[in-house]
Amino acid sequence: MQGFILQMKTLVQQASLGLLVSFLFIPQVIILVIVLLAIIITSESDFAAQFHIQKVLAVLLFLGVVTLVTFSSLVMARCVSRPLLKLDEAAQEVAKGDLQQTVTVNSVREVQELARSFNQMTLQLQTSFSQMQALNQALVENESRLHQFLEALPVGVSVHDPTGQLTYVNRVGQNLLSIAHPLDITLEQLAEAYQMYDYRTQLPYETEDLPVTRALAGEAVHTDELEIHHNGRVIPVELWITPVFDENKQVVYAITAFQDIRDRKQAETKLSYNALHDALTDLPNRNLLMEQLKLTINRAKRQEDYKFALLFLDLDRFKVINDSLGHLVGDELLIAVAKKLQNVIRANDVAARLGGDEFVLLLDNIEGIEEATQVGERIFDQLRSPFNLVGHNILVTTSIGIVLGTKDYTSASDLLRDADIAMYHAKAKGKAQYAIFDLQMQIQARERLHLENDLRQAFERQEFVIYYQPIVSLKTGCLHGFEALVRWQHPTKGILHPGEFIHVAEEIGLITLLDDWVLQEACCQVAFWQNSFQDLQTLKIGVNLSVQEIDNPILMRRVEEILHRTGLESNCLSLEITESALDKQTVASSHLLLQLKARGVQISIDGFGNGYMSLDYLHSVPVNILKIDRSFIADIDNNRKNKQIIKTIMTLSHQLKLKTIATGVETYQQLEQLRGLGCELGQGHYFSQPLTPEAVENLLTHQRVWE
Ligand code: C2E
Ligand code: MG
Repeated sequence: MQGFILQMKTLVQQASLGLLVSFLFIPQVIILVIVLLAIIITSESDFAAQFHIQKVLAVLLFLGVVTLVTFSSLVMARCVSRPLLKLDEAAQEVAKGDLQQTVTVNSVREVQELARSFNQMTLQLQTSFSQMQALNQALVENESRLHQFLEALPVGVSVHDPTGQLTYVNRVGQNLLSIAHPLDITLEQLAEAYQMYDYRTQLPYETEDLPVTRALAGEAVHTDELEIHHNGRVIPVELWITPVFDENKQVVYAITAFQDIRDRKQAETKLSYNALHDALTDLPNRNLLMEQLKLTINRAKRQEDYKFALLFLDLDRFKVINDSLGHLVGDELLIAVAKKLQNVIRANDVAARLGGDEFVLLLDNIEGIEEATQVGERIFDQLRSPFNLVGHNILVTTSIGIVLGTKDYTSASDLLRDADIAMYHAKAKGKAQYAIFDLQMQIQARERLHLENDLRQAFERQEFVIYYQPIVSLKTGCLHGFEALVRWQHPTKGILHPGEFIHVAEEIGLITLLDDWVLQEACCQVAFWQNSFQDLQTLKIGVNLSVQEIDNPILMRRVEEILHRTGLESNCLSLEITESALDKQTVASSHLLLQLKARGVQISIDGFGNGYMSLDYLHSVPVNILKIDRSFIADIDNNRKNKQIIKTIMTLSHQLKLKTIATGVETYQQLEQLRGLGCELGQGHYFSQPLTPEAVENLLTHQRVWE
């Protein structure tokens, strides 16, 4: 701009000078030409005579010329110099920056032209200047907006020049790095003052490995595994750093965005802790235990003489405590047990909770199995004194399965499985026992696994059949009804009794399916016999139900459906539930039993006398029939106490208007005794073994009365 104005000024000055010269010299040249012409055209004689005249003329001419020159100078000054001076002044104003200059002249055409050009030029200058001003303004605004934007960002932003020198750090970045004057810090100082660690390896970075050094070498870096240690602060940082290249592909600077991820890292740490620990007891959970087991197995493989052991604990009768005292007490008990377990192990051992009332101890680097059994004994010792929890004194015992870890184990789950198997054996031995895993247990466990697999396929292959055992009136000897007893026609093992597979079906969740099938088949079958034999319209059928079914909300609907479909009267069906599997609360609170009873379906307590149900309790539960356990019947001849128990059951059941069925009647003497005690119904080998449907049909056709 300034250059342009100077050029203008020079132009005006040159133009003015040119005009001035032409105005001053043109008259003199004309006069000189006239004098020369006069000398040339005049003769020599005349020349002398006329010399005087010529002198006078010359003087006059000179005066004329002077006058002409003066006049022309005056005219020139007025018409040329003044406008030119005006122009010069205006040009000087423009040079000073005042572009609002317009020059008006009434002069010679050339000067007017010059003035017009000058005016056009200043106008052009004004337009360009205001455009430049607007551009400049926009640039300034953009820069300030960019600055505001960078300062307002919630992440730190910094810029390094190619030498690593920080050239900019925004406010958040300054706070994070505790830098007051970013421009004073070189890359080396930065790395030194702010110790930067690799979050994973916990090793400090060398300058050449720093993300910024890598970015300055042309690499775009993103990491959330960086920690800045400065002035006692440790800040985990996530960082993106991008190199910016010039047209020669040289890094001109590197832009870094970084943020404090303390909260995130804390949350991640908490999450991974939670993923590996049990929320209730704070012990390692199954995941962490499995990880530890893998490491331990690997160590056993590397180290010939290294031994370890796994103790699998399951609290005895925890469910009863939990159900009777409530979950709060149950939880408190688990926490207290967890603490005691931690007391019996060393620092390098692991106590974990698998879930429910199952705990596992991993004993590291032991001498032999004795060390593991000693720990087992110490656990029993710890549990000998009762826990005082929420006002209750609770004694709890545990069954422990022990397995000695060797290099032959290849998987953690195999170890856990074997400890679990041993624990089941300990449970079977009685309460507060331990069992050491051996090969025999493994064989049994394998058989059990096969049984489970076969059982799953048994439905598809339709391998279940129902046998029917007659129930007889002891007074008349007439057939009263049947009990449906399921059998499994195993493809290789032959006929299997429920005792061999019902508990497995319960454990693997197949019992609902099985009970439902038996219920449907048995009802169908009895309805068919009722219809086939005129005098058997009230033939009864007893169907066993697993205790798990007592809370099954869809059972009522299924019973309704089946009764409806088969046309069987509801009072012809009785559902048998084994007493030993029941506890008072379950029976009393079972809506299902109440609904069934209200619908007219009979409820039988199977194996009565063997469980926890006290006689006076019978007042409050929805029951119709008591099936006296066969252990009382078997001894009835010799055992006075058993006879007395049966007598009491009879008295009470008469008072409560309950029916009684004596089960396991095998001899005529037993039958006589039971008749004498007033027992109404009987079932057992004396009358008949459980029969196939074909055998029942034969029986119904030929013999229906027993002596
Ligand atoms: P339970 O309900 O007490 O059935 C009577 C059991 O005693 C039957 O054994 C029967 O064969 C046997 N028994 C009958 N009379 C005599 C006798 O005079 N002497 C002797 N020693 N035993 C006799 P089973 O069929 O092996 O059934 C055993 C248990 O399996 C049944 O006991 C019942 O609790 C359960 N069960 C049977 N069928 C089913 C079913 O369909 N579903 C469910 N959930 N459980 C069933
Ligand atoms: Mg039964």
